[in-house]
Amino acid sequence: MGLLSAMREDTIAQNLRRIRNEKGISLSRAADQTGVSKAMLGQIERQESSPTIATLWKISQGFGMPLSFLLQEVTCTESCGAVRFPGSISVRIVFPYDAMLGVETFEITLSPGQFHQSEAHVAGLVEDIFVLSGGMELHVDETERQLSQGQAVRFAADQPHAYRGLDEGAVFLNTHYYGRGAF
Ligand code: MN
Repeated sequence: MGLLSAMREDTIAQNLRRIRNEKGISLSRAADQTGVSKAMLGQIERQESSPTIATLWKISQGFGMPLSFLLQEVTCTESCGAVRFPGSISVRIVFPYDAMLGVETFEITLSPGQFHQSEAHVAGLVEDIFVLSGGMELHVDETERQLSQGQAVRFAADQPHAYRGLDEGAVFLNTHYYGRGAF
């Protein structure tokens, strides 16, 4: 296990436990709210299981908070470390969630050929992609769009969507607009 993975599990586990304690809810109640099983939530908190990005989205939506609240190192306000999900994408927070704007920005790394499926995000969420390097496909609205370095797209992300890294993979900025005052 690499250093990034170790940091990630620690950070996510601590964030989940702290947020659940702040809300004053049990694991059972958290399971009801998020659709993630009580057993899985407990395993994440004890660092016995590595959550997928899909599971983290479920937790953030169920708790009514942005994704970055789970990924963010408490002591880190900018240039935070990347979170690498085993066999999946790597995520680095560029701008943590801004409550005034209702916006967070990540830098996402897709490996060559890597396919990443995302379920529908919370209603009204708009997503931006801006390709920093490499090339990728975006699957949304029943169409596939190829995006290369410097290209951008904005789309309604409250529907299933997917990304694929092309030959050399891709690094892209990914902004989530939850809406002003969402959380
Ligand atoms: Mn998405």
